[in-house]
Amino acid sequence: MSIVTQEALLAALKNVKDPEKGSDLVSLGMISGISIKDGHVAFAIEIDPARAKALEPVRIEAEKAVHALSGVLTVQAVLTAERKKGKNGGGHDHGHGHDHGHGHGHAHGAPGGEKPLIPHVKAVIAVASGKGGVGKSTTTVNLALALVGMGLKVGVFDADIYGPSMPRMLGIEGQPEMSPDGQSILPLHNHGLTAMSMGFLVPEDAPVIWRGPMVMGALEQMLRDVDWGELDVMLIDMPPGTGDTQLTISQKVPLTGAVIVSTPQDIALLDARRGLNMFRKVEVPVLGLIENMSYYMCPSCGHEAHIFGHGGAKSEAARLGCDFLGEVPLDIEIRETSDGGQPIVVSKPESPHAEAYRAIAKRIWDKVGLIQSGKGQRTAPKITVS
Ligand code: ADP
Repeated sequence: MSIVTQEALLAALKNVKDPEKGSDLVSLGMISGISIKDGHVAFAIEIDPARAKALEPVRIEAEKAVHALSGVLTVQAVLTAERKKGKNGGGHDHGHGHDHGHGHGHAHGAPGGEKPLIPHVKAVIAVASGKGGVGKSTTTVNLALALVGMGLKVGVFDADIYGPSMPRMLGIEGQPEMSPDGQSILPLHNHGLTAMSMGFLVPEDAPVIWRGPMVMGALEQMLRDVDWGELDVMLIDMPPGTGDTQLTISQKVPLTGAVIVSTPQDIALLDARRGLNMFRKVEVPVLGLIENMSYYMCPSCGHEAHIFGHGGAKSEAARLGCDFLGEVPLDIEIRETSDGGQPIVVSKPESPHAEAYRAIAKRIWDKVGLIQSGKGQRTAPKITVS
């Protein structure tokens, strides 16, 4: 089977015209975010959002043109709106040296005149991991529900916009509605939680092909335009990894602190350490490390198998100078309940695992109290560019 190349793709798209502008999509610089993997092709067509309806036939034509190439199995073209650069004096102002350590020309928190992000949320905690699949989302929902159980008003913001799993884990279906005045988006609720996720707007399995600025635009909008109401605490399910997106969220959102979820094997691979360093770089207090899938618990006999040398997080946390918040075993009940929309903290509150989550949530909340009594709510941190 022939291999699809970017050149062939662009050549095909050169035959597709934007009827209004009279030229082709490639010459107009409208194609971005190209991804070609084993015959599966995806790309974005950047447009003025006002023209989205009018350009839908162009998007279909572009998909057809690419589909006709030999070696192409599937094609996904999405219309995206490129964010205008240089707005609000924020964005990237690279004109200055970095010698004083702080400041990168970025707008911190609420830049002049703009509506501040989440003004009625008293504490914001990022739940992060060095890589995907370690149970960050599962941990986020269970901790959030444990905090609800403590009588707090809790929100969960699913910032994992490439793989949003909150709708499934919280058992929420349907789309958010607009407020009656049409000014804001109303978040969804279940199990006493307030939640917002890209997954409410885009199906979990749909490819979301956005460039960095688009992702940040969507995240900021979800924070600013969602009517979160008054919350005692918001947990942010961060995208996995420690790249630019994570750094930017940590910089834009007034984080009270961060917790890092890791499995014993990732601790060995230093993935968790990278997460820790990222938050330290942006001066966000790391509240501690949680070891997930710490050991395997046999559902039939209750035997504990320490497959990856359980306990590594505890000693590593001590070595890195951050707190160890607790451990959660690898247990089929945790998987089934969270993937079924009934996280264990609410569906089996008497189980030892629910108790483990509650103990971790309590430790986190105590630490938030300490931070807030010392400093009040943090403003968004300044960034140090190395
Ligand atoms: P991440 O957010 O880090 O990508 P998820 O929370 O989506 O990870 O978890 C990945 C998978 O592992 C899910 O199917 C989830 O139910 C399962 N999982 C997470 N933690 C546990 C655990 N402690 N025991 C069993 N399964 C778990």
